[in-house]
Amino acid sequence: MHFEEADRLKSLPPYLFAEIDKLINKKRKEGLDVISLGIGDPDIPTSTDIIETLCKEANDPKNHRYPSSYGLRIFKEAVSKFYMQRFNVTLDPEREVLPLMGSKEGIANIAYTCINPGDYVIMTDPSYLVYKISTIFAGGIPYTVPLKEEDDFVLDIEDIDPEIAKKAKIIYINYPNNPTSATCDKIFFENVVSFAEKNNIIVCHDNAYSDVYQGENKPMSFLNAYGSKNVGIEFNSLSKTFNMTGWRIGYAAGNGEIIESLGKYKTNVDSGVFNAIQYAAVKALESYKIHTEHNNNIYNRRRDMIKKTLDDIGIDYFDSNATIYVWAKVPEGFTSGSFSKMLLDKADVVVTPGVEFGKNGEGYIRISMTIDDSRLEEALKRIRNAL
Ligand SMILES: *Cc1c(COP(=O)(O)O)cnc(C)c1O
Repeated sequence: MHFEEADRLKSLPPYLFAEIDKLINKKRKEGLDVISLGIGDPDIPTSTDIIETLCKEANDPKNHRYPSSYGLRIFKEAVSKFYMQRFNVTLDPEREVLPLMGSKEGIANIAYTCINPGDYVIMTDPSYLVYKISTIFAGGIPYTVPLKEEDDFVLDIEDIDPEIAKKAKIIYINYPNNPTSATCDKIFFENVVSFAEKNNIIVCHDNAYSDVYQGENKPMSFLNAYGSKNVGIEFNSLSKTFNMTGWRIGYAAGNGEIIESLGKYKTNVDSGVFNAIQYAAVKALESYKIHTEHNNNIYNRRRDMIKKTLDDIGIDYFDSNATIYVWAKVPEGFTSGSFSKMLLDKADVVVTPGVEFGKNGEGYIRISMTIDDSRLEEALKRIRNAL
């Protein structure tokens, strides 16, 4: 057999840092202690009450059969209650909430649900890569809008070509933002709603970091914007908020018609989220205040440690209070790739080159704080010594 993968796989953007990956593996093989600040995957364990709920429900044979693709009523009610308490947003649990096997799955499948080959999809550069790749998989054309430091990395709607806007099917947005850690306000969301109404575009807001923040200035929901439910949906996830990345549970919430279509598509490609996991997620959502306070205390300490080090060594960064990342500028004379490589060479520390998230990420690195304090301290000490 001569195996040949499909064109859609061949058309994926090349992975730029295979060289850095090789170097990491080589160093680890040599027994060197490489510390990674490169991945966005919480190190904090899932809370034991959530795990206990999973165990109990996993023992119940009624949960051993196919779940409904549309999810358990109790899970959708828990999401609605969470949205009311946390964001003051009303959601009809049956019509306006759909469980997902992690929000990444929904973010990818919404492309298949809504776009026809040749349709434009608007997204930012830099951004989480799934928006672009699922667009390509579904035969759409990604149209990227730069995120600029002078705009505090908030998308400037004026930068969108009006001719493309007329033709576009979806706009993906993401605040608090990965990788820049930028946040936005309600006025921005309202401007996105007007833009979407004017151009008949579906808004997909990715709110994966809604509950990772410092201080009183809490991130909002896109659904807080007046008219948002007419034009879009929000993806949210238990991954970052409840340290449940491995559990694969998230949800889409918002416009009933879009939710229904996404569900219709999904019934044909998966068969729902394991019921025991949905019950565990209910447990998590019910006590979100305790969990988010616990997590944020940890992340706030780490964010402060990173900022302090960067201040001391004179590296500029975007001063944000949200997400699990610090978006820092590479010093004069480096590219994001060469600076990351230098840190790996000299300090055995991995950071993510900004250009991995798009060409406008050049000049930046993303430092992730999902590593325990003592390892983070060691990594920061090594970075100080390397510079
Ligand atoms: C981590 C992350 C997600 C969440 O993915 P899950 O599939 O829910 O684990 C979604 N969007 C962004 C921007 C992320 O960083």
